[in-house]
Amino acid sequence: MFLGHFAVGLASKRIAPRTSAAILIAAALFADILWPIFLLFGWEHVRIDPSATRFTPLDFYDYPWSHSLLALLTWATAFALLYWRFSRYAIGALMIWVAVLSHWLLDWITHRPDMPLYPGSALFGLQLWSSIKWTMIVEFSMFVAGVCVYLRSTRARDKIGSYGAAAYFIFLTLVYVANSSGPPPPSVSSILWVGLIGGVILLLWAWWIDSHREPATASRTTG
Ligand SMILES: [Zn+2]
Repeated sequence: MFLGHFAVGLASKRIAPRTSAAILIAAALFADILWPIFLLFGWEHVRIDPSATRFTPLDFYDYPWSHSLLALLTWATAFALLYWRFSRYAIGALMIWVAVLSHWLLDWITHRPDMPLYPGSALFGLQLWSSIKWTMIVEFSMFVAGVCVYLRSTRARDKIGSYGAAAYFIFLTLVYVANSSGPPPPSVSSILWVGLIGGVILLLWAWWIDSHREPATASRTTG
């Protein structure tokens, strides 16, 4: 899943308005942020196989440290505690914890059975990816919902907050469509570097637009 993880991060902003959307998105995408790093170090492995699923040409046959439920529980707790240590914002820390864990649930729904509960366990997956149509419907509905929640719970302070945010959402949509309709990646190292560099750009961009928006209730008077 791709857009669905962004949707979780964006929607979390409503519950944790003081946490940057970039951090919430990083939490929801955390497994996919670790994954290219672990590939780089040779701790995890992937194969390009156009017959793997209808939707993705990747065979995720070994990724227990980034994508098992137990590993994500550990990462979620570490990320949330670290955030709490510096921010003392409990709701933000809680949403980070939930968002990191949500990754397993969403990937379990989309992937074929390749999601471990713990390193070496049996593998699970409901294979939404066996249908391109339903993959698109689910991901786009989640994304639209996430964007709407984010836009309603925050307000642009300037043009970066409004047009920059619109450009971000359009860009994510285009990346998703290009990714799902384009040819398979040429090599594992291309996946790895696109993942690493793309991840940094998308998180910095989220941080940039989010810092030009404020909670929608910030200056609203009550009563
Ligand atoms: Zn993933």
